[in-house]
Parts: sequence; C-alpha cells; structure tokens
Amino acid sequence: MISGYTALYGLIAHPAQHSLSPFIHNTGFHQIQMDARYAVFDSQATPAAITSAIKTLGIRGVNLSMPYKQSLVPLVDNLTSTAKLVGAINTIKNEAGRLTATNTDGDGFWCALQKAHPQRRYRSVTILGAGGAALAVIEAAVRYGVQQVTVFKRANATYDSVIQRLAQISLASGLQIIVEPYDDQLALATALQNADCLINATNIGMTATPGNPLPINLLQYLPEDSLVADLIYAPRETAFLKTAQKAHYQIQNGLGMLIEQAALSFEFWTNESMTTMPIYQHLTGGNDAS
Ligand code: NAP
Repeated sequence: MISGYTALYGLIAHPAQHSLSPFIHNTGFHQIQMDARYAVFDSQATPAAITSAIKTLGIRGVNLSMPYKQSLVPLVDNLTSTAKLVGAINTIKNEAGRLTATNTDGDGFWCALQKAHPQRRYRSVTILGAGGAALAVIEAAVRYGVQQVTVFKRANATYDSVIQRLAQISLASGLQIIVEPYDDQLALATALQNADCLINATNIGMTATPGNPLPINLLQYLPEDSLVADLIYAPRETAFLKTAQKAHYQIQNGLGMLIEQAALSFEFWTNESMTTMPIYQHLTGGNDAS
C-alpha cells in the first residue's frame, strides 16, 4: 500500500508511456519488500526544471532517457567515472538533495550478454553507430575482457567530437578503439573478419526507423561462430537480427540490456540486488533472444 512514507522513484523522458521500467523496478521493490514505487514522468520540461523537481519533491532516484541523458550531465552534483567518460547519464540518486549520476547502459549490455552466453568471450568487437548507447557499451567493454573495438560512424558534424571522446575512453581503459566512416565498406568487411561480436547500436531497425544497418552481403565476412547483437528491443527481432539468424549466427536483442541496466540502477539506488530471472521470464515467455 502507498503511504506517506513510500519512497518515489521513476523514469523521466519523452516519450515514456510505453516504458517497461515501471514493471521491472516495481517487481524489484516487491522482491526486497521495500516501501517504494516507480512511476513514469512523461516530461518535456527544461533540464533545470527536472533537477529542481527531483530535489523539491524528494524523488529518491530516477532513470533518464531521451531527451535528458546528456542535457542533465552538467546539472548534477556528482558523476561516476563511467558517466564522465560516456558523457551521458541514465540514473540519478538523490541523497538529501545531492544528486549523483551514473550510466548503467554499458554494463547492462555486457551483463546481459554474459548471462545469455556464459561460455562466450569477446576480444574484438565491431559496433555500428556511436551515439550515447554505443559509447556506454564501448566504455564498459574492457571490464568484460574486450581488447579491441572498431566503431563505424557517419562522417558528419559529430564525427570529430566522438573521436575525441573515444580517445578519452581508450586512454582511461587501455581498450584499443578504431573509428571508421560508416559508409567505408572495405573497412567494414575487414573489421568483420576479425570480430567475435557485431553490435548494431544505431536506431536502424526500430519500428519508426525500419531497415538493416549494414549491406546484407557484408555479413558473409563475419566468422560463423561470432555473435550478432542489436541494442533494439522493440521490435524484439529487427530485420538485422532476422538476417543474422537466417545466416546461422547466434543473436541477442536489446531486452536483456534493458533488464540488466535497470537492475544496476536499482542496485545503485538501494544497495540491493534485483533478481532478474522472473522478469526475463515474464517479458519473454522464456523463449526469446535476449
Ligand atoms: P543516439 O544517441 O541517437 O545514437 C544513434 C546512433 O545511430 C548515432 O551514432 C547515429 O549516427 C546512428 N544512426 C542513426 N541513423 C543512422 C543511419 N541512417 N545511418 C547510420 N547511422 C545512423 O541513440 P542511442 O541512445 O545511442 O540509442 C541507439 C539505439 O540503442 C536505439 O535503437 C535505442 O533504442 C537503443 N538503446 C537500447 C537500450 C536498451 O536498454 N536495450 C538502451 C539505450 C539505447 P550519427 O552519430 O552519425 O548521428
């Protein structure tokens, strides 16, 4: 029952109403018998209004999605080293008005991969796209044994700044990071030949952005025992994953990342673990590539 003592957590984003996060976090609070609830705040308020609301209303912790992951970075009191390197945050903890922020997307991706394929090791990885989620996955990669990442990004206005950020990540972690223009098919074919894992971190394949993020004929360069992953979870099987599965690659969609990044946010707020297995089972019916 909700009372005057119930702690409030939530997602602040726009759009937000479709989110699975309330189900995931409220299940977690129920598991640990914590008097807390997680709600959705579908908001387009200014970043300053958002941090002010978190403090004024005493909201204990929030997740952030579009359009706040980068714009709130300068407004919090403390950033974890991961948040500083990625330059984007998805989790804020409010301790008596002091806001500490981190980014759990990258560790969430690799944790999900480890749970789904515990026997696999990833030394060399190819990533399509270099937005906020890709940077988080790259920053975390070294903690999961990855030694080298080749990133394909459109040669547009953000190319140089992304190269600079990736150089900082490389310097901090020792991960070898190579950046190539997205349309360089020769470089892509070469990178694929050495990749244990190919990751789509572009928006291509989402319901609103259908399509395949790479020319299908290039998939033949990827070794047959490599894993193909997509950060997208709606739809659960993008055209990219369908193509890869037809070519007999093992695949992984973005649902596991969604669940594990939530579990890591939950732990950041409460210092308690969320048991994710029942959440996977509820959301997949037990038979999904997540
Ligand atoms: P973002 O910051 O907007 O980055 C999108 C990336 O996709 C950018 O690098 C962009 O290229 C690239 N891109 C978009 N359209 C492209 C095109 N037509 N050709 C080539 N590249 C294109 O978004 P994000 O937050 O990183 O999210 C990326 C994906 O990850 C989304 O599908 C999102 O749903 C998913 N995601 C999943 C989870 C999860 O929990 N499973 C969490 C976060 C994100 P430029 O850099 O050139 O603009």
